[in-house]
Amino acid sequence: MSTVAFIGLGNMGGPMAVNLVKTGFTVKAFDLSKDALHHVSEQGAIPAPSACAAAAAADIVVTMLPAGKHVRALYLGDDTNKGIIDVVGQGTLLIDCSTIDAQSARFVAEQAKAKGLEFIDAPVSGGTAGASAGTLTFICGGSDSAFDQAQGVLNAMGANIFHAGAAGAGQVAKICNNMLLSVLMVGTSESLQMGIDHGLDPQVLSEIMKVSSGGNWALDKYNPCPGVMQSVPSSNGYQGGFMVDLMVKDLGLSQEAALLSNSSTPMGSLARSLYVNHARQGNGKRDFSSIFEQFNNKG
Ligand code: NAD
Repeated sequence: MSTVAFIGLGNMGGPMAVNLVKTGFTVKAFDLSKDALHHVSEQGAIPAPSACAAAAAADIVVTMLPAGKHVRALYLGDDTNKGIIDVVGQGTLLIDCSTIDAQSARFVAEQAKAKGLEFIDAPVSGGTAGASAGTLTFICGGSDSAFDQAQGVLNAMGANIFHAGAAGAGQVAKICNNMLLSVLMVGTSESLQMGIDHGLDPQVLSEIMKVSSGGNWALDKYNPCPGVMQSVPSSNGYQGGFMVDLMVKDLGLSQEAALLSNSSTPMGSLARSLYVNHARQGNGKRDFSSIFEQFNNKG
């Protein structure tokens, strides 16, 4: 089995790295957080003293970091550190699973290519539950050969692996999806609340809309109204799940992308404003389905 350097062991990266260990990969791990590093080391990963030390000894590098600036600094280097592309051996495959702007992904891919290295953007959908269960969806951008080469390692962490197109295409597809998700969540919330305001039982209304033309993922899998569906964040005080702050980040990325391509995205723009307000009201760390409270006067 190949050796994988896994860098960024947070809510998503931690369980993803552990799934690689369980599948039989040798995992050399690094995170700026000692706690995060300790946690995966207890589950079989080998701690490395730095990101470059982990990467230098690996066949494949996987990164799971907060934003584009972290990804650029790590792969390309900065004033204090060498970049990963400066230390890895020829033939090392570079896979970034963070959700970042497509321009950064394309830039890192170009710089890697100049050194004879393949880089793919492979953002994920499926949240922390999918990361733990190994059922993530990977949405990849990059060359056919890099995509083929990534199959083994991505299959160990996910259930669906898509090739969206060339470098950056994975990031574009990911933010298109999350923009749609936010619009569906807002629309589902306001529709449910209007039904409640007219005396309807939200459970009955949800069952009706699920099999009618308004049916959608939020109604099927992630109902935002407390008490309608068990085992989802709305029935657990909106704890866990996908944080409002991350949705705000993704909607910012989608609006930046829309500007670059001169695309009209009025619903995405409105959804971003609603989520920004929601975050400003102290909801940033809660699940994104808590947007429901903006409509029932608890917002
Ligand atoms: P997180 O904040 O829990 O983890 C990020 C980790 O990266 C932290 O442990 C941090 O210490 C580490 N880190 C930052 N800079 C580093 C560096 N230079 N070197 C080494 N480690 C570094 O975030 P997360 O929830 O795991 O999300 C990671 C990415 O996945 C984000 O881009 C996010 O948008 C995306 N994502 C998250 C979810 C989710 O539900 N949490 C779902 C899909 C996609």
